[in-house]
Order: sequence, then C-alpha cells, then structure tokens
Amino acid sequence: MEIIHVAAECYPVAKAGGLGDVVGALPKYQNKLGHFAKVVMPMYRTRFLLQNEWELVHEGGQNLGQSFFHYSVIKEKTNKLGFDLFLIDIKGLLDREKIYGYDDDSERFVAFQIATCDWISKWNHRPDIIHVHDYHAGLIPFMMKHCPAFSNLSLIPSVLTIHNAQYQGWMGWDKSYLLPAYDDWKWGMLDWKNNINPLASAVKCAWKVNTVSYSYMDELKLSANGLENLFEYEKGKCIGILNGIDNEVWDPETDEHLIKNFSVENFEKGKRKNKKELCKQFGLDIEKPLFTFIGRLVGEKAADILPEAISSSVYQHQGNCNFLILGSGDPEVEVQLENLKHLLSGYVSTYIGYSEPLSHIMYAGADFLLMPSRVEPCGLNQMYALRYGTIPIVRNVGGLRDTVVDYGDWQGFGIRFDNASVWDITYSVGRAIDLYFNKREQMNQMISFMMGIDHSWETSAQQYISLYQALK
Ligand code: ADP
Repeated sequence: MEIIHVAAECYPVAKAGGLGDVVGALPKYQNKLGHFAKVVMPMYRTRFLLQNEWELVHEGGQNLGQSFFHYSVIKEKTNKLGFDLFLIDIKGLLDREKIYGYDDDSERFVAFQIATCDWISKWNHRPDIIHVHDYHAGLIPFMMKHCPAFSNLSLIPSVLTIHNAQYQGWMGWDKSYLLPAYDDWKWGMLDWKNNINPLASAVKCAWKVNTVSYSYMDELKLSANGLENLFEYEKGKCIGILNGIDNEVWDPETDEHLIKNFSVENFEKGKRKNKKELCKQFGLDIEKPLFTFIGRLVGEKAADILPEAISSSVYQHQGNCNFLILGSGDPEVEVQLENLKHLLSGYVSTYIGYSEPLSHIMYAGADFLLMPSRVEPCGLNQMYALRYGTIPIVRNVGGLRDTVVDYGDWQGFGIRFDNASVWDITYSVGRAIDLYFNKREQMNQMISFMMGIDHSWETSAQQYISLYQALK
C-alpha cells in the first residue's frame, strides 16, 4: 500500500513533542512491513534541512485567499529516515525557525495543506491512503471531499490520528476566504460552535479516526476541549491504537547520547554511571533517589503544581530525594522552578529549555520519572523510561493508564496515583523512596521486568495497516 502521512512534525527533522516521534517512526515500521509510506511536512529552517541533500520534485502555485503563492516540494535524497521524506517550501510562510507560535499560524498551515493537496492531485497515480495527523493537517479530508479543485482525491480513504485534541486550530469564519473554493452546502463540515475548527472538520470528514491510546478515546467523550458531543456522535468510526516507541532510536544498549550503555543484564552499573554524570553536572547527590520530569511545562502536564509538589516532597521526606527537571513552557512555572533550584540547591535542579541529548541521559540515569499529567493522549516518556529502567510515577489517565501498572497490583512495575495534586505526588514520591531504600531487590526485579516489555512499533504499525485495509 502507498500511504501518505501529512504532519507538522517529524523527528529528527522538526519535533516539539510526541507527534514528531510518531511521524518519524510509524512510516519506517510500515515500510518494514512491506508497504510504501511517505511523509509530507512543511519545510522549516531546521538544522536537518541544512545538513542533508535534497532534490526538487515539484513546483506549483495556488491561491491563499486573494494572494497567489508559489510552492516547491523537495525530497531527501538518501532515504536516511527509512521512508521518503518530502518538504513543502512556501517562502515567507513556512520557512521559519520555529514550528508553531506565530500570529499567522492559520495562514501557514492552511497554505501547507492547500499545497499538499494540489501536489498530490497532480500525480499521475492515486495513493492508497492519506493519513493526516492532528489539526495542522486536519482540513485535508474536507479539501479532498468538498473542494472541486481536488476532486480527483475524493475517493482516496483518509485517516486522522489525534495526538492531542486540546489544540484544534480554531479560526473565525472571517478567515474562510483562505480556503480553496468549496461546496457551500458543506460549510457545516468545517464548523464547530460558530468557528472553523480544523480538528472537528477532520473528525467529521476522515473515513476513520484514531487516538494514540485506548483510554484517551474514551476520555474524549467526556472531556475534549468542547468536542465531547462530536466524539460521542462519531464514535462508530473512532478507535484507539497505542503508540509504539522507536526501538532503534531508544535503545539503552546503543544510544549514542548515553555516558554508558547498558542492557537488562547490567543495568545497575550502567544506570549508575549515567546518574553520576547527571549528579555531577547538576549538583545532586548520587546516593539519593533521583526523580525527573521531562516535558512541556504546561497545565496539561500539571507542570503548574510541580514546584509545590517538589518542595513538599523534599520537606515531607526529610530531603531523601533529588529532583531534576527538563522542560520549557509557561514562563511563570519556569521562574518558580528556577527559584526552587536556588532555594533547595543540592536537592533540586533544572534545565529550562529543550535538549534531546540530556533527555536521553535523564531517562537512563534517573531512578524515577514523574508524569502527573492532567491529560495524556498516549505519553511516550513513560515508555522510554520503562525501556531505560526508570520507574514511571504516573497519574491514572489516558495512555499512562494503558501502559503503567502499579507495583501493588499483579505484575506491577510502576507507581500510579489518581489526582493531579500536590498530596498525591508527595505520597507517591514517598512510596518510591521506600522502594529505593527499603525494597531494593523488589525494585530491581521490577526494573528487569519493565525493561523487557515490548512497546516497539511493530504491533501498532500492523494495527494501522489493518485499519487501512478495512477501508479499501
Ligand atoms: P507531548 O507530545 O504531549 O509533549 P509526549 O510524551 O507524547 O508528550 O512526547 C514528548 C516527547 O518530547 C518525548 O520524546 C520527550 O522526551 C520530548 N521532550 C519534551 N520536552 C523536552 C525537552 N525540554 N527536552 C528534550 N526532549 C523533550
């Protein structure tokens, strides 16, 4: 099957979170299953762009409202990611350093989607599946079905994967002029609560919709940033498929970022070497359990309660714990964490920013990974932590619920709690400290067990293929 993935992120080209990891891995594993998966994404000014060789495969032009734009499509020459990678270049709109966060993001992503449809509609064959990811590509199923300019795409099955339903790409109807001409009778397919809502439109128009875990699919019917009724109404075509992790990138035996590689055979020594480096770099005590948090410092991840939860844990547990936080996001949380770092120096340290190499060393060197998320569509961090022998401490939500079993339950290997609250986190940190100091043998057995859990993409990639096949 020929599958075209359309997304705003793809690791290692451009990544802001889990979306990038998934789009960088799923196509590779689909190709390993004998299919022909490709990725189409915007051409940002990233290091990957500058460090690789490209060939021009298409040039075209389209309208964005009243103005004409020119676009070109370039392809990475060596297939180094394990799939064909195409970047769409639109000068003045997409060629920027950041992926998101500009005032004209609506214009940027609408233009990207128009260019993508225009280019594919000019092929002299039809792909088998167009697979769009999140709202940035969410208008494509509508355009394929209801824009006369792309009518030759209307019979290609489209699939939407929702990596995060909090972000929907709302635009006022005053921006409808940006869209290519469409069948006016179908305006309702764009609308949700008097706005153009690209994510809602994709849920309505795609042939099949999936979320990246089973529990998240159920949760969306109760809480989906305003789309609850839509998910209830469309539940017949919605399913959950759990994300995998790229075992080639995330392998403690071969990971080039690590200070010392290790396997399930020698994890104690290996993890300690990485922990030693972290403790040295961040002024922490190697003899104490090291708790880490890696991620966006936003409300969804409950980052706002982290500073209080950390100080409460340090005081309540008589300083028998160390914390290292890697992330960026809400400026207020960033400041609070920086203050805490000075106030509780020797117990707490931070790296405010984004660092892929540091994240790898943290997954390897930490003893515990904290994920108190309020919303977690799948969560990859906990799966990386499992593979690197770091015990996840997670809230009972979304993909965390699907992948972590509390050690108090049968065959459990993690720590789970119910509420995103300072009390629940402090209590769970206490349970972890108890494991670390008093139940080391049990802790090591848990680590051996969880390092062997298979969360690789093979199974999930096959589930996507089965989903496509049912649409043909
Ligand atoms: P989300 O997509 O909601 O941010 P996920 O758990 O699905 O969360 O994916 C997060 C990914 O982003 C993981 O690969 C994690 O290691 C990475 N990540 C998040 N913040 C940072 C950071 N500050 N530095 C390095 N990697 C980060």
